[in-house]
Amino acid sequence: MLPPIASDFVAGEDADAAIEHIRSCNADGVGGILNLLGEHYDHRAPADADTRAYRELIRRMDDAGVDGCISVKPSQIGLDVGADAFEGNLDSIVEAARTHDRFVWIDMEDHTTTDVTLDAFEKYARATDGGVGVCVQANLKRTADDLERLAILPGKVRLVKGAYDEPESIAYREKAAVDDAYRDLLGYAFREFDGGVAVGSHDPEMVSLAADLHAEYGTDYEIQMLMGVREESQRHLAAEGVRTYQYVPYGDKWFSYFYRRVRERKSNALFALRAILGR
Ligand code: FAD
Repeated sequence: MLPPIASDFVAGEDADAAIEHIRSCNADGVGGILNLLGEHYDHRAPADADTRAYRELIRRMDDAGVDGCISVKPSQIGLDVGADAFEGNLDSIVEAARTHDRFVWIDMEDHTTTDVTLDAFEKYARATDGGVGVCVQANLKRTADDLERLAILPGKVRLVKGAYDEPESIAYREKAAVDDAYRDLLGYAFREFDGGVAVGSHDPEMVSLAADLHAEYGTDYEIQMLMGVREESQRHLAAEGVRTYQYVPYGDKWFSYFYRRVRERKSNALFALRAILGR
């Protein structure tokens, strides 16, 4: 069972808990992006099992009538097994999503997967006329070129700062340089994208820059933040009429995800420690 402290960042161990959590987000005007925790499977069986779980989740979200979509990691649905496994599984998830009129996000993992992930996105963005979205990372130097490619495709793009520790030859490693790149890329996206922009950031400066760019260019946008991070601000944005989504992880592989959130921020670590000590 999920300990109370982890439940700030993870909705629960099963789809029931995840859908209930989305329902409570929806009550505050916030949409949900569900992610079944799991990555880097090097065998077909768990990749296929998670694919089935996503298909079932899509059906259940539809039955429950919640405002939500899903986000999948390529290495969770077979990328490390092989291109055939990845494409076959993504194909079946996209098909289920199309049947139930749900949107599919593709998360971006480390730089060795960028090309294959963008290629898959392009294929399904065209095939569904915009029913899928992809994440791109401002810390990668190549992203300015990638955005030019993505600007002429249907589908949505989520811009994040980047969560992976990448080599200096291909990535900005200083926070200030990543923030500069993020501002430039966000400006480009608001100027050039027709399908809208997804701002995957908790940074108040980037959230307010997005509002300014929207006022200047009129481009649709949405803010996406993680469960457990700046939730007050998520509710506030939604109440102000900004389309806001919460990325909601769930599943039995919650420990490593929770540990990562705690390591990322000293305040989360202190919060966890206080909860464990019961103070
Ligand atoms: P930061 O500069 O890191 O933080 C800005 C402020 O936000 C901080 O000062 C703090 O107030 C708050 N904050 C940020 N993180 C935390 C935290 N953990 N706990 C408490 N407060 C916090 N990365 C990928 O590489 N691939 C993906 O597919 C991907 N998908 C994502 C999807 C969503 C919806 C989001 C929100 C992030 C995703 N990320 C992904 C992670 C992203 O790359 C960043 O690592 C992460 O969002 C932190 O960057 P930031 O923009 O929030 O800004």
